[in-house]
Amino acid sequence: MVAASRPTHPDRSGQRNQPIDTSSNSRRAVTRPKFDAVDIVTESAPYTVPCIDCGSPTQSTLTEALVGEDHRWDIDGQCSACGAIWADCGYQQPHPDFREAILAANRTTVLELGSVDVPAATLMRALRLTRSLSLTAAKALAADLRTTGLKGTRVEMELIARQLHAMGVHTRKSK
Ligand SMILES: [Zn+2]
Repeated sequence: MVAASRPTHPDRSGQRNQPIDTSSNSRRAVTRPKFDAVDIVTESAPYTVPCIDCGSPTQSTLTEALVGEDHRWDIDGQCSACGAIWADCGYQQPHPDFREAILAANRTTVLELGSVDVPAATLMRALRLTRSLSLTAAKALAADLRTTGLKGTRVEMELIARQLHAMGVHTRKSK
């Protein structure tokens, strides 16, 4: 019974099998080099902004991304009233509530040291290389990192983790 269905469409089944094999080969060849080249870490959140065309409040997507060494904030959306589509890339100065939206949608990421045997000066230097901090603030953050761990967005913690890793300090991240 099963074999009888074969001869009825011999040409179709032959054609169908071949394209599937070639597409899976070409897909592998295209995607691999892209993701090896740049390390990307992102978190996204729903975010309402006025439509760029008609001004209607539009549920958009806010994304905080670390693309290589570039820390960026993007917003993209599509207006349900007029259909306008936009993607605002690369906010250098994030709006104050961007961070809150990311944290609300993704919860905080906790960064902890793999070992507490790291000099405070090393931690302070790593922290001051990733953000603008006074010595006093860096000292307090270094103490937090050693005891409770630091809390923030995934991208913020990744930035600090990478700096520490470059200085030979191992860390772990958790939600
Ligand atoms: Zn609109």
